[in-house]
Amino acid sequence: MNVAQPIETSSKESRSKSLEGMLRKMQAAHRKHPYPTYEERIDALDRLERTLLRNKDAICDAISHDFGNRSRHESLVAEVFIVLQHIKYVRGRLAEWMRPSDRETSWAFLPARSDVRYQPLCVIGIISPWNYPVQLALAPLVSALASGNRAIIKPSELTPRTSELLRDMIAEGFDPDHVTVVTGGVDVAEAFSRLPLNHLVFTGSTTVGRMVMRAASENLVPVTLELGGKSPAIINDDFPLDVAARRLMMGKLFNAGQTCIAPDYVLLPEGKREAFVEVCKKTVAEMYPTLATNPDYTSIVSDRHYDRLVSLIAEARDKGARIVEVNPVNETMNREVRKLPLHLVLDAPEEASVMRDEIFGPILPIIGYKTLGDAIEYINERPRPLALYFFGYNQAHVERVLTETISGGVSVNETMAHVAQDDLPFGGVGPSGMGHYHGFEGFEQFSKKKPVFRQSRLNTTGLLRPPFGTVVDTFLKLVLGK
Ligand code: NAD
Repeated sequence: MNVAQPIETSSKESRSKSLEGMLRKMQAAHRKHPYPTYEERIDALDRLERTLLRNKDAICDAISHDFGNRSRHESLVAEVFIVLQHIKYVRGRLAEWMRPSDRETSWAFLPARSDVRYQPLCVIGIISPWNYPVQLALAPLVSALASGNRAIIKPSELTPRTSELLRDMIAEGFDPDHVTVVTGGVDVAEAFSRLPLNHLVFTGSTTVGRMVMRAASENLVPVTLELGGKSPAIINDDFPLDVAARRLMMGKLFNAGQTCIAPDYVLLPEGKREAFVEVCKKTVAEMYPTLATNPDYTSIVSDRHYDRLVSLIAEARDKGARIVEVNPVNETMNREVRKLPLHLVLDAPEEASVMRDEIFGPILPIIGYKTLGDAIEYINERPRPLALYFFGYNQAHVERVLTETISGGVSVNETMAHVAQDDLPFGGVGPSGMGHYHGFEGFEQFSKKKPVFRQSRLNTTGLLRPPFGTVVDTFLKLVLGK
């Protein structure tokens, strides 16, 4: 039985010591058993699957308690189904992935053989955020277990009930030297990021990502950084606005916009802005006829986050933006339940925070463009986004956007769907992240790709040893010419 670790209550020094002790024990256990078999890995994935299924209601309740209200359907889809689906996908391919991959041997070394084998790294650290507190802790764990590793998870302090549930769920299913969860505040997260882990996956903001990478660099711990940023959506001239609005509102209002790959702002042909505002209002009224008491509409996670969003709107308004509150029932913003209606932002000046910072809530700047080239340039002048959405049927335009912009991932004519494709790698680029997980890339990310060269009994390399003579000269003439 895995015993809860009282990390959060200890002093700074003893906190670091107990984290280091935990890591050392796991690393020692790994040395005794460095290469879990296929069956052992499948068993670990099965245990994770059973734990998730057994706790699905508890997960919905805990997240809803932490958020104020989290739609049960959103939790079942985004926290439970996505992870279960990924476990199934990985299980079906693991045998093939674990097989050493044959590589070409340079002709001069034939008949030797070369291959690459995938070896577990040892202990993977996982620091996860609050916005999808189960998915973003367990999806990296699926990849880590598939590649034969052990893992320590440090979930967010902003969703304490869910973090405790995660700790208990993992304790139910895994030995403490295989997988464990440490809870606690930022101080624990900081100490955790300084550990000599064998790999660290951090999901969170770009600002904290920088600190984590700096801390990890002290021990040269390799990092996968899953960060944030402003993900644009372009609507092409040929695409029906009502269809675009439905798909964009789904991506923007799922989890009340608190999604790393939510569309952050929309670029559309200049003359279509007013029509787009109208179809957004209609779509939102259909999706969420009420807000404050509607269980489908998720709350903003904390008063601090709610206040940040309210001040983003106020600042944009003060700086001259036109704000359209899309509130089907005209409820006042209800701070008690932290339900914030969608706010469309038009004509905001570039210096407004809403145009520069990641929004992470139900606020959507709408920006007109003259040509598709202008829209592409607007995106390329800014930090590379985590996701990009293009709505258009013109294939030449689709190709142009795909080749002329760079982002973590893309969904064409949809929002967010690329993250749910188990065979697609997930990860940002530049300030939106580095490294990938999900699918084969996740297995690869947490493995050492070890190149192995096997000399054959009969070989010619002995002929190339000193003292050099005619054989080497002939060989060199052959490969280099006269
Ligand atoms: P955050 O960066 O504030 O916190 C993330 C985690 O880092 C938490 O567990 C926290 O305890 C820990 N942490 C905080 N300070 C730390 C420090 N100094 N050293 C080490 N760890 C520290 O992010 P958040 O508010 O929880 O999440 C929102 C952000 O995460 C957004 O920017 C969003 O785009 C991003 N995000 C990215 C992805 C992705 O897959 N790329 C997914 C979800 C969220």
